[in-house]
Amino acid sequence: MIRYCRRCVMPETKPDLQIDAEGVCSACRYFDRRKEIDFAARKVELQKILDKYRSKGDGYDCIVPVSGGKDSTYQALRMLELGMNPLCVTATTDKLSAIGRRNIENLKNLGVDYVEVTANPVIRRRINRLALKTVGDISWPEHVAIFTIPVRIAVQMNIPLIVWGENSQHEYGGPAGAADNNVLTRRWLEEFGGLLGLRVSDLAGQEGIEPRNLIQYTYPLDDDLRRVGVTGIFLGYYLPWDGYGNALYAQAHGFETYHKPVEGSLVNYENLDNIQTGIHDYFKFLKFAFGRATDLACLHVRRGRLPREDAVRLVRLHDGKFPWEYLGCPLQEVLRDIGMTLEEFVAVCDRFTNRKLFVCDARGNLAKDRDGNLTKVNYDNP
Ligand SMILES: [Zn+2]
Repeated sequence: MIRYCRRCVMPETKPDLQIDAEGVCSACRYFDRRKEIDFAARKVELQKILDKYRSKGDGYDCIVPVSGGKDSTYQALRMLELGMNPLCVTATTDKLSAIGRRNIENLKNLGVDYVEVTANPVIRRRINRLALKTVGDISWPEHVAIFTIPVRIAVQMNIPLIVWGENSQHEYGGPAGAADNNVLTRRWLEEFGGLLGLRVSDLAGQEGIEPRNLIQYTYPLDDDLRRVGVTGIFLGYYLPWDGYGNALYAQAHGFETYHKPVEGSLVNYENLDNIQTGIHDYFKFLKFAFGRATDLACLHVRRGRLPREDAVRLVRLHDGKFPWEYLGCPLQEVLRDIGMTLEEFVAVCDRFTNRKLFVCDARGNLAKDRDGNLTKVNYDNP
């Protein structure tokens, strides 16, 4: 039996989430406490930090890591409005979509300097396959590079301040100690960067991958970080963060949404850049019985934009469907890129599926419908 938060629809299987004696999850409790935050004071605090790092007019004031998505478009806009001269840095996604590329072009045209770093795609596809097979996360190399590449550029170009978006521990709950941490360190990356116990150094020697192929996945040395004084802030700590609000703001500045809700999601305004995201989200569902639709439903329920009973229905309708396509791109194309057959993929899926969370037949095999979809043992509290 899966237990769900009584207020949102998150199951207690989510890593680092606790449901308290009243049946309310830690992310909902954190959201309640947000109402007491003095955001006016935090904005003053933010301005002080930005003043401290603003260059004398001949250099960049900060790095903004960007994907071209709604949040990073919003981050770049806010930095410009606050009088900063940002260098926007993209670590390219594993498989960039056409709409993702258009949104990157839109972001540049907000009026910023922009750098894009692409780690060797031949090696990356090998890492995609390796990470999918060993830790059940195809997006592992992307999650690493999103953190390492902007920090490497900060060191190389002597730009100490990195302005990140939200601290995922704030919005989604997490270890209480981390919720007050507004600085990104190497330790933060290792704890919360989604590395799942697979280390970059573990890759060398596998599938013909050599250390020299892993430069962009490697965090700079502590000595170099200290020399430049690299630090980071999460904008979501200083400004009242709302993904939907960011999307509206970004859209009003040319950001393009998808023409329908994204497969496996409830909305059309996020995760539009990487076609492998469909597989990434599906594995989260197999391991923990929730996918992107649940995440989105919870965000909207907490903000009073969706009644809980509707959220339960929408999650049942959209969450965790077998990822036959994502952003209109067929699964087979993604698998062909990484050198995996559909049969191999299904076998990896089954290996990472938590059988306690899904209906099995009398012989203990996972029950699947004609499209390969699983059924959760329960969709809400009784
Ligand atoms: Zn909750």
